[in-house]
Amino acid sequence: MGLRRSGKSSIQKVVFHKMSPNETLFLESTNKICREDVSNSSFVNFQIWDFPGQIDFFDPTFDYEMIFRGTGALIFVIDSQDDYMEALARLHLTVTRAYKVNPDINFEIFIHKVDGLSDDHKIETQRDIHQRANDDLADAGLEKIHLSFYLTSIYDHSIFEAFSKVVQKLIPQLPTLENLLNIFISNSGIEKAFLFDVVSKIYIATDSTPVDMQTYELCCDMIDVVIDISCIYGLKDDGTGTPYDKESMAIIKLNNTTVLYLKEVTKFLALVCFVREESFERKGLIDYNFHCFRKAIQEVFEVRMKVVRSRKHQSHL
Ligand code: GDP
Repeated sequence: MGLRRSGKSSIQKVVFHKMSPNETLFLESTNKICREDVSNSSFVNFQIWDFPGQIDFFDPTFDYEMIFRGTGALIFVIDSQDDYMEALARLHLTVTRAYKVNPDINFEIFIHKVDGLSDDHKIETQRDIHQRANDDLADAGLEKIHLSFYLTSIYDHSIFEAFSKVVQKLIPQLPTLENLLNIFISNSGIEKAFLFDVVSKIYIATDSTPVDMQTYELCCDMIDVVIDISCIYGLKDDGTGTPYDKESMAIIKLNNTTVLYLKEVTKFLALVCFVREESFERKGLIDYNFHCFRKAIQEVFEVRMKVVRSRKHQSHL
């Protein structure tokens, strides 16, 4: 959610439809509620609702209770290049309404379009928005509501990173995935590993070493290169086939003695690792460990499918 022209549609198009940021200049502003299912093409099994800025909570035809009841995360986009007082008032109204209906919603605030701000200005804006939003909640006696803040822009990878964090909070298996990644990298001499949703370039998990933005950007670029090349040269002559399948893998050697290694994990997920050249000499070991890792990941999600299926079965009964 967020005011008109704050950047909601642009974020959706850039993250989920590979639109280049410059093209968003020509997007029409959101003026109706749009719902989109991302579940068919992506690991992230969710729907996005793009709300116009001027939602009227008192409009009886708009059943916001029904929507908020099934919501895991509410992303509120604030245009940092604009006067944000009105946005803050809207944020407060939205958060308090949503919280009343569903106190389990994660409130994620994107302080957006920060590409136009200097580094100092970015920090100052974040501090100011953080302070005002929390003061408003405290004045209403709702200080228990937790808001998370992210500085974002569609012109760099910050929007993907922020979306990754939002999605990770909704994945119940996250600690298990992190644990498996930790075991995998420490036994294979790997520096860093990300589990990516290939379509959106959201990383759904990484090992517990800190995330360095440059490493993350390189991994995103690698996915783009692999999928683009595969789309151009990997499909059959009649245009059928998929650009990403069980055989998908790629190795890119950089000039600073590191190697990027990508491998398919499931239909939607890829593992991208950062490996030192000398460790990559033991590729056999890495591949063997990867084989075990892949099997474990598939088991984790099979368990989830079974739980979902048995819940559905019970609700039918
Ligand atoms: P919506 O009404 O909230 O869906 O807003 P739009 O997605 O239509 O975006 C409004 C304008 O903001 C467009 O011209 C976008 O190009 C621009 N915009 C979106 N994101 C960014 C960003 O990260 N940085 C900058 N500088 N402009 C952005």
